[in-house]
Amino acid sequence: MGASKVWFTELRRVVIVLLLGMFLGWIFGRPPIGLGLSVCAVLIHWFYQLWRIQEWLSQPETVPPEGYGIWGDVFDRIYHLRRKEKEARQQLQSTVDYLRDSFASMRDGTVMVDEMGAIAWSNEAAERLLGLRYPDDSGQAILNLVRVPEFHKYFLALDYSQSLLINIGGEVDLFLQIDVTRFGEGERLVFARDITNVTRMEQMRRDFVANVSHELRTPLTVITGYLGTILDNSENLEPRYIKPLQQMSQQSARMESLLKDLLWLSRIESVRNIEQHEPVDITGMLEEIRDELNNSHPDRTVDLEILCSAKISGDLRELHSAVSNLVQNAIKYSPDSAPVIVRWERVDNQCHLSVRDSGGGIAPAHLPRLTERFYRVDDSRSSATGGTGLGLAIVKHVAVAHNATLDIQSTLGVGSNFVLIFSCSQAALRV
Ligand code: ADP
Repeated sequence: MGASKVWFTELRRVVIVLLLGMFLGWIFGRPPIGLGLSVCAVLIHWFYQLWRIQEWLSQPETVPPEGYGIWGDVFDRIYHLRRKEKEARQQLQSTVDYLRDSFASMRDGTVMVDEMGAIAWSNEAAERLLGLRYPDDSGQAILNLVRVPEFHKYFLALDYSQSLLINIGGEVDLFLQIDVTRFGEGERLVFARDITNVTRMEQMRRDFVANVSHELRTPLTVITGYLGTILDNSENLEPRYIKPLQQMSQQSARMESLLKDLLWLSRIESVRNIEQHEPVDITGMLEEIRDELNNSHPDRTVDLEILCSAKISGDLRELHSAVSNLVQNAIKYSPDSAPVIVRWERVDNQCHLSVRDSGGGIAPAHLPRLTERFYRVDDSRSSATGGTGLGLAIVKHVAVAHNATLDIQSTLGVGSNFVLIFSCSQAALRV
């Protein structure tokens, strides 16, 4: 029945009751009393219906009471609304169950944390990886249960753009990759992935490279030494041997510098002791690098532009080798007449150490791979310049060890600008 028709029928019913009351009152000579009594009867009826609604709503899941007229219509509508709401709730619950089941079956530890930092839910893998038990630990602050200082710092910093790698010691040494995502109104999802195997393989690879480089060094030093001695006495040699011996000497010198770079790279990769960092006077370091290059390349000009006096908390040897590599590259890959400009400046809340040259530049396609080990834009040219292909890999690793980034801007035919960007907000920086 349409809503207006129901209202019309109810109105007609009420009017009939009121007229009947007035008529009965008129028979007894008291029409107002008859009208008053009929109004009371209508109100009592309505109150009774309201009471039935309340009774019915207080018991869940029962069929609606019988009703007629407008009240029957109200009962029906409420009943349908309740059914729809129940269906929606069931659907929502099954979605939540489905999501929980899929999170529960994940091999990665998953923890839902509420806006106060308390554990709302966690899966089985989180018990194995982070030692969190659900439901026993639900409602407890995650920071009270995962007692790893790096995790505390990361979780409270609220910057989850990068993953966190942590080592959880214990019976078994576990390496975890932690990722946090935010959702809802301040809730967070913490994912912990077991990367122990990958980390061990990576460590084995590093150890292997370091050991091989170390083992090769001694025989190579002997070979280089003998070659040097033989060439020093070249007057006693048959002329046809001189050129091959010179080439052997050059190549063994190249191999020596390659091994030196490989050993240095594996040292930078493995030593991550930020506590041992000390304030490094960048201005002094740059002047030293300039003087060294003036000695080795007297024909080249290195211009220093020191626009800030900030010191970086770091490792002087590592920073020196990174900047030295950048300056040597700038010299190698630009014409003799072009000066190299090294600039140290503050840009907003960052400090930039840039090395600019006006050489041939690098095509954009090469830029993303430039810091890979042994990656070269032009193999023949790089070999001719005596490069090992490890220079920029060293720079990249030094940047990572100092919480800095390496930005490379280059235009073919115009030149390149390699910028080490240190953040001033980091405690690493002491001005
Ligand atoms: P290499 O020892 O070969 O110089 P690097 O890792 O230092 O190795 O550099 C990788 C490659 O990047 C180089 O082979 C060269 O092609 C390119 N490159 C590096 N610096 C510059 C530069 N300033 N200008 C042009 N190309 C450069």
